[in-house]
Amino acid sequence: MGNIAIDGPAGAGKSTIAKMVAKELGFVYVDTGAMYRAMALFMINSGVSADDSAKISETCKDADITIKYENNEQVVYLNGENVNGKIRTEEVGNMASASSVNGDVRKKLVELQQKLAKTTDVVMDGRDIGTVVLPDAKLKVYLTASSKVRAERRYKELTAKGVECDINVIEQDIIDRDYRDMHRENSPLMQAQDAILVDSSDMTIQEVAEKIIELYRNK
Ligand code: C5P
Repeated sequence: MGNIAIDGPAGAGKSTIAKMVAKELGFVYVDTGAMYRAMALFMINSGVSADDSAKISETCKDADITIKYENNEQVVYLNGENVNGKIRTEEVGNMASASSVNGDVRKKLVELQQKLAKTTDVVMDGRDIGTVVLPDAKLKVYLTASSKVRAERRYKELTAKGVECDINVIEQDIIDRDYRDMHRENSPLMQAQDAILVDSSDMTIQEVAEKIIELYRNK
């Protein structure tokens, strides 16, 4: 037994695949992005500006973020309130991308993530899981796909919901976000030395999940 760390850029399919792997192995899935999003929601509710790092450092002390599992689903509580229904907006995503560069925010959430992984076997996804949060994970996967394929997936998702969008704009957003995640000073997104690279560009979700389970079983 042991933990599985899955890192990679936005839109590579990390959360869908991590959930499938966790279910198959009987592990707990931990979505660390949701914690950064809950913290971002707290910043928005507190009227903190995305570029005010001193205020972000000060404000994050008052955010009590806890994780519970209800019906096999991760539920994020912010100061006692279930915020799962409030964290998947563009506004929260953009604030999360800005506030997650803050060292005090990261320290607090990394501690919470490490505590969760100590009590049970987890499949944890994020940007710094293999490099910072779980350096001793039994299996580390760096899951990626070309920006073109990730843009196509996002485009399909949005048009299925009836949202009008431009695939070229989506791809450019993905490229910009990758750049920010990979070039920030604190815990930049990168492949851990001992992580296995999986490129999902030409694979189905099922194939990727099976590949990760096979890698884990062969460890
Ligand atoms: O994965 P998701 O899009 O939900 O993550 C929200 C934001 O939190 C991202 O912009 C990402 O930069 C940040 N994040 C992070 N470290 C993690 C998980 C997410 O910095 N371990």
